[in-house]
Amino acid sequence: MSKQVRVRFAPSPTGPLHIGGVRTALFNYLFAKKHNGVFYLRIEDTDQTRFVPGAETYIMEALEWLGIAPEETVGKNEKFGPYRQSERKDLYQQYADQLINSGWAYYAFDTPEALDAHRKQHEAEGKTFIYNHTNREKLDTSLVISADEVSKRIDNGEHYVIRFKTPVDETLHLKDIIRGDVKFETNLLDDKVLFKSDGMPTYHLANIVDDHLMETSHVIRGEEWLPSMPLHVLLYKAFGWEAPEFAHLPLILKPIGNGKLSKRDGDKMGFPVFPLEWKTEESVSSGYREKGFFPEAVVNFLALLGWNDGTDKELFSLEELAQSFDLNRVHKAGAKFDPEKNKWFNHQYLVKQNDADLAKTFSPILEEKGIDVSKYDLTRIVSLIKERANFVSEFWDLTDFFFQPPSSYDEKASKNWKDETPTLMQELISVLENIEDFTSANIETIVKDWLTKNEIGMGKVMQPFRLSLVGALKGPHLFDIVEIIGKEETISRIQKAISSL
Ligand code: GLU
Repeated sequence: MSKQVRVRFAPSPTGPLHIGGVRTALFNYLFAKKHNGVFYLRIEDTDQTRFVPGAETYIMEALEWLGIAPEETVGKNEKFGPYRQSERKDLYQQYADQLINSGWAYYAFDTPEALDAHRKQHEAEGKTFIYNHTNREKLDTSLVISADEVSKRIDNGEHYVIRFKTPVDETLHLKDIIRGDVKFETNLLDDKVLFKSDGMPTYHLANIVDDHLMETSHVIRGEEWLPSMPLHVLLYKAFGWEAPEFAHLPLILKPIGNGKLSKRDGDKMGFPVFPLEWKTEESVSSGYREKGFFPEAVVNFLALLGWNDGTDKELFSLEELAQSFDLNRVHKAGAKFDPEKNKWFNHQYLVKQNDADLAKTFSPILEEKGIDVSKYDLTRIVSLIKERANFVSEFWDLTDFFFQPPSSYDEKASKNWKDETPTLMQELISVLENIEDFTSANIETIVKDWLTKNEIGMGKVMQPFRLSLVGALKGPHLFDIVEIIGKEETISRIQKAISSL
């Protein structure tokens, strides 16, 4: 690649970032890193009607959280700034004029009412109205009225739009890095609006002008933009600019059934589709961060939605991803979203975390339950159970018995409490009382010796013992629990079980 790689993520701040948008940002980031290029963020806010306050901050915060912050953006290395299109407003008119002057665009004065009438008339004839080469010369455009008349109407403050004059009878053979050759017939395209008399460009014009001015080398974006590619390539041609290379990423599909992953799928199946929580006056949508996902896990599973390195390898750090990433290995077909796999990734990262860090994250959860955490070796407790958890939020259910005696006994497990059990448990108490070095391995040796010497079956003691301490037949190695809760508490729980079971 000879040119410097400069890629961008160009969201419109119309709400929280969907996970598909996050993946687009990630693939741009990875591509930039792989080629020692620049990843920048441009805010495409020309459509003021769809502007949502807070969305821009949300997008920036989400990228920061994921560790894929842009190198250039609003307020940061504004080499080609401003990076917010609304602040570039004055820049676009000259480009729209340029296209008018070169004959690549024309003024259209049709009022919304007139367009509506055309639409209705077409419908009545069983046709669909498309603003294109078949009718642009029959409509209210600068293609059919004199230049003087056009100037007069504009000076009079009449509303107009500038439309692209799509060439006729051309077959465009375009190259997409992921899809290979893609063919478009220009006759099937409509003459898109590029600019409006309120002085605002539309997405298409602003996007092309900015990609050019900001020296974008590759446009990597979602598949939903593929239909815009012919217009965009034609716009580059009209301006006489070199077009960037294009790569349209596959859709992220629903876990079950067909179609694009939606927020509704997430709500139904209990997983977030947004990186961070998003609150409005009406509702709260959950986010990966608030659900307890590690950003590294989110990055890792998103990277594998539509891409792999050609091997079975699934666990990649961000650095490894940046080294291995290759747009040529991105699939064309949509990538099914698998919520279970999601959790699996989080589990992998949870297990890799340092126990002391996990204990720190767990601590406030315990404090909220009124537990004095200073009395416990949380790091050790966490180390015993983390293999069984996908999230730190699951730690409480896996550890509650370390902090409090069971409040009830699992019914099914209680069937292991037989007639002879109370006597055996009394004997066990005496054995425990005499142990000086109350550490897991030592307690285990002494208890097992006692069982062997007296020819008592293991299960006869171990299951009721666990039931007494935990309230169920679950939890980590029993003698670790015994050591951690201590002699006094162990004995008191056995006594309580004897009296209640
Ligand atoms: N503003 C567009 C969006 O919201 C950008 C599309 C593109 O990357 O060209 O996704």
